[in-house]
Amino acid sequence: MDLLNTLVDKGLRRELPTREEALAVLATSDDELLDVVAAAGKVRRQWFGRRVKLNYLVNLKSGLCPEDCSYCSQRLGSKAEILKYTWLKPDQASEAAAAGVAGGAKRVCLVASGRGPTDRDVDRVSKTIEAIKEQNEDVEVCACLGLLSSGQADRLRAAGADAYNHNLNTSESTYGEITTTHTYADRVDTVQQAQAAGLSACSGLIAGMGESDADLVDVVFSLRDLDPDSVPVNFLIPFEGTPLAKEWNLTPQRALRILAMVRFVCPDVEVRLAGGREVHLRSLQPLALHLANSIFLGDYLTSEGQAGKADLDMIADAGFEVEGADKVTLPEHRRAEAGAGCGSHEAGASAGCGSHEGGGGCGPCGSGEAEPVAAAGSDAAAEPVAAAGNDAARTDLVAVRRRGAGTDLAPNA
Ligand code: SF4
Repeated sequence: MDLLNTLVDKGLRRELPTREEALAVLATSDDELLDVVAAAGKVRRQWFGRRVKLNYLVNLKSGLCPEDCSYCSQRLGSKAEILKYTWLKPDQASEAAAAGVAGGAKRVCLVASGRGPTDRDVDRVSKTIEAIKEQNEDVEVCACLGLLSSGQADRLRAAGADAYNHNLNTSESTYGEITTTHTYADRVDTVQQAQAAGLSACSGLIAGMGESDADLVDVVFSLRDLDPDSVPVNFLIPFEGTPLAKEWNLTPQRALRILAMVRFVCPDVEVRLAGGREVHLRSLQPLALHLANSIFLGDYLTSEGQAGKADLDMIADAGFEVEGADKVTLPEHRRAEAGAGCGSHEAGASAGCGSHEGGGGCGPCGSGEAEPVAAAGSDAAAEPVAAAGNDAARTDLVAVRRRGAGTDLAPNA
């Protein structure tokens, strides 16, 4: 297939594909799926071998957010029956993080709901970062606290943070349909503040919110321009009690095509298989390891993931290896470009994490029967992808988190 050979060739040379080529990947049929995975897998192995990086989320403050992100169970007006609690103390957070590190995680992602931190919040998170680094000097620590104000990124960096996550989530043209309380530009600005402070930027997307193929390609090309070191790919978990509760439009095949497109557009970046993988990829998760080189171990912020042991077995059974602290995540050239000082660029410390909550995707275009390799500029690209039908609504797989941080129950790790 010329398309895939061309994309592999470009991926091995870190050359940006055309939008038409990216759209064509999303338009491939289920019959071509294994060819697509095999092709993108060559690019994955070129830059990341068969290593899988484990990241561990610690939800420092859950629920009660004044923002209205329509996919989020923590949003203003959410009726989702999630855990709600205010800031964990540094020792509580450090204890939660230790469980993830003991489970094999190389990164700890400290996340708090809210529009953005106050300077007092930055102080308390700085103490948490110091507490975690004291206990696990090799661990990489990421902060994900929302929109940053001037100087806050520098202070987090000074406290020992290695990275900062802030996702773009969806395309600029549709952002206003997902969130009205802050803008796409606000998000881009926060990522750039983190990069300017020498933090490793982590910024990704949520697929499955009813966006079109063109929207997906738009946000991934924007991420390529922003050039974060890691790109979390979330698949919407349609939480009851949120505006997107009925947005079940993903199939495992569609999710794999989206991951392959991200790998081709961002060949040498840590692509993280983030929230929603258990719900939407299900038994095809091992195939996704040929595309993404990073996952979250344990639970997500407000929902439960599969058991940590099951993840470790899946990685081994699929012929991959957990990336150890002795291995550097990013390819040599990215470290050189970024210069020393930020975790993922040197063995030992780094970090990054996904947006506040996981995401979704769509079935193949309209009829469910995808046209093989859509021609460049195919109009299918602009059409919001039709729902995959009620049988896609796997509400049985959505479990609200009831253990770990903010509870007396042991975390999943
Ligand atoms: S994504 Fe973040 S900012 Fe948006 S509603 Fe959820 S917690 Fe608030």
